[in-house]
Amino acid sequence: MTDRIAFVTGASRGIGRAIALTLAKAGARVVVASNEPENNEKVAAEIREAGGQAVTVFLDLTSPDSIKQAFGDILKQFERVDILVNNAGITKDNLALRMKKEDWDLVLSINLTGAFLASQQVIPGMMKARWGRIINIASVVGQSGNPGQANYVASKAGIIGLTKTLAQELGSRNITVNAVAPGFIETDMTARLTEEQRAAMLAKVPLKRGGQPQDVANAVKFLASDDAAYITGHVLAVNGGMYM
Ligand code: NAP
Repeated sequence: MTDRIAFVTGASRGIGRAIALTLAKAGARVVVASNEPENNEKVAAEIREAGGQAVTVFLDLTSPDSIKQAFGDILKQFERVDILVNNAGITKDNLALRMKKEDWDLVLSINLTGAFLASQQVIPGMMKARWGRIINIASVVGQSGNPGQANYVASKAGIIGLTKTLAQELGSRNITVNAVAPGFIETDMTARLTEEQRAAMLAKVPLKRGGQPQDVANAVKFLASDDAAYITGHVLAVNGGMYM
């Protein structure tokens, strides 16, 4: 991936951090983006210490202006983004009956609208270059449904639809668009679960363990590589067999 520019949203922690470190190790110049500048800098420093190249940018996916500004800055600096990983995501769980509209809107705006607007920023450059990779981080629950997560599930099912549509619109320009659907991965997001919820989740996993951020990063690295040149519109499950 030498000389490829890879923009990773939500790269300050968890799965996004692992993706940023992994793409940098594979030779890409990585843009570490999130709305926590200090954490962005920490991840960029880790990349540089390991001999890789990284820059940081402030990105608040709830704000279309912030998205324009962040990509504008990076495109000014590098002229293009070759690989976009739409990884940032949040949960605001509740039963549908009790879910507040503001929690519905917030989750949809970061997880789905944010990914759509970010993709719009990089597509013109990828079309011009006749090469591009967009990789969207979905979720197993976007495929299976999950009680208590109507907003999150809708955002993740939506991103799978977005992936397939962009794949069809952009294929003729040699841009592939794929999704990775993680299952239960050990990050801050899942650390919030109770022991009971954890045990119930793991009971559904044939591999009998939670996944690590690196498991997801490895799948992203493959989809971003030239080895995956003929794969587009695919949803790659990284879920230990939790949903087949
Ligand atoms: P995480 O540890 O909670 O990290 C979330 C990341 O998103 C952070 O970098 C966070 O940045 C960023 N973010 C949140 N709000 C943002 C905003 N408004 N603008 C820009 N960035 C924002 O989550 P994770 O577990 O690594 O999850 C990463 C992705 O994988 C998400 O899309 C999630 O839905 C998906 N996923 C996770 C699991 C799992 O089991 N963990 C399973 C399936 C799918 P800050 O540091 O600034 O908050």
